Amino acid sequence: MIIAIDGTLASGKGVIGKKLAEHYGISHLDTGSLYRAVGLEAINQEISFNDVARLAMIATSVNLKKYKDNDLRTSEVGNAASKVAAIPNVRAALLEFQRNFANQPTGAVLDGRDIGTVVCPNADIKLWIQADMDVRAARRWREFEALGRTVTLSATLADLKERDARDRSRGIAPMIRARDSYLIDTSKLTIEEAVQTAREYIDKTLDTTYF
Ligand code: C5P
Repeated sequence: MIIAIDGTLASGKGVIGKKLAEHYGISHLDTGSLYRAVGLEAINQEISFNDVARLAMIATSVNLKKYKDNDLRTSEVGNAASKVAAIPNVRAALLEFQRNFANQPTGAVLDGRDIGTVVCPNADIKLWIQADMDVRAARRWREFEALGRTVTLSATLADLKERDARDRSRGIAPMIRARDSYLIDTSKLTIEEAVQTAREYIDKTLDTTYF
């Protein structure tokens, strides 16, 4: 079973993906980490975002085990990720890895921006997770606060708007809701409620599809 989860930044898709994977006993890939890893390398190695060939090369050999989660989850790296994510050669280099992950025999949950539309268009389940902009900004800001990072709510909001706009408008694999995806708006939901909503939909869909 392949579960494809897409949605906006800080909508809750990552944590929903993780919890669904635990529940169904399958692997989970946060595909944003792949783009973040390439973005972090661009920063560390001072590679220009115009140096498409070098960035694509890095994407070809990306190894997530090399990175600490905290180093990937800064807003600077998030922004760099969204810039490298607009480069077709970088996306192409990461596509095979994601598809191989999705097609492992035991099944998988992948979350990102283009999973249901490009990476796994034939996924058994497609979810689109969204939430209001101010709710998402507050969530992300609280996460930064918890990590001891000093950043204002308004800067977080501005960052989020900029990244959403870039992800939506890029020429390749833009962030877009798949037509056959099930929408969950998490603005007023706890994580548990959002996961429960997703599970009910998945169980009902699998029941009618396979039994
Ligand atoms: O989800 P996360 O914030 O970690 O993703 C970082 C960036 O990576 C996104 O802003 C987006 O530009 C890019 N991304 C993507 N396609 C995916 C996952 C992430 O373009 N499947």
